[in-house]
Amino acid sequence: MSPDANQSTKLRFGTAGIPSFLKNVATSQAIETVARLGLDCFEIELVKSNWLNGETAQEINQTAKRWGIKLSLHASYFINLNSPEEGKRLASIERLLSAVRWAEKCGAESVVFHCGYYGQRSPQESFHQVKTTLKEIASILKIENSPVILRPETMGRRSQFGTLEEILFLCREIEGLQPCLDFSHIHAREGKVNSYAEFQRLLLKVEKKLGKAALKQLHLHLAGVLYNQQGEIRHINLEESDFRFDEWIQALKDMNVEGTVICESPDQSRDALLLKKLYLGQLRSEEKNFFESQFKPE
Ligand SMILES: [Zn+2]
Repeated sequence: MSPDANQSTKLRFGTAGIPSFLKNVATSQAIETVARLGLDCFEIELVKSNWLNGETAQEINQTAKRWGIKLSLHASYFINLNSPEEGKRLASIERLLSAVRWAEKCGAESVVFHCGYYGQRSPQESFHQVKTTLKEIASILKIENSPVILRPETMGRRSQFGTLEEILFLCREIEGLQPCLDFSHIHAREGKVNSYAEFQRLLLKVEKKLGKAALKQLHLHLAGVLYNQQGEIRHINLEESDFRFDEWIQALKDMNVEGTVICESPDQSRDALLLKKLYLGQLRSEEKNFFESQFKPE
């Protein structure tokens, strides 16, 4: 029985890849550890290379089922659906399709991916190009009867395609697409969206553009983040960052958001557990005071 079977949590919390405190373990072992820690989901990271084979995919699939862990998969970082070079655009299509096919073998429900860069193109031209390419990909997956949901991610650097609006419009215009909302990226991109009211407003916007159902199957990324004028620099742990994650959790609760939270902090399992405890109201009062004194000076 899954350790989570008795909990009626609407939001699942888990890690982006193998928790950093684990050294030299197979992904299936990491999935078991994540379950034993009390977490609920796991994102397979195919970001730098594809290390999966038929055997590891089957092992991952079986372990996740045994432990009640919900899987998603993050596709290659080397995808640019807006590349002006046709060869690179075609290779990007191939990488994304390959990620989706491996996700299905692993039993992962969603594939998260980065759309690419604006390069020399305007945001409007880029949107048109990304949309056209994603439509091609979606139509291939439809023919294959793929059960996997494609999730373009909101991006943290201003050179990257993927503002909230761009991602929501893509999801509205292409059947089968749902967003991956990375709140750290959204925050880092402009240095805004870091309060209860802003989180709530953003979620209302998602509801307005994609319908109520979208809030019942959201895929969220969160980490602490360092940023400057150009946006994201790198991920840090939540407690070292300025991100108001307690207000974020409260907004998700109040808006009855359901789905998956994947933590991408350097110490991802610790931060995922911190978020889950906050969500369930299980943070001990001394811990809570500590976090509040750290993050809410005013
Ligand atoms: Zn990502």
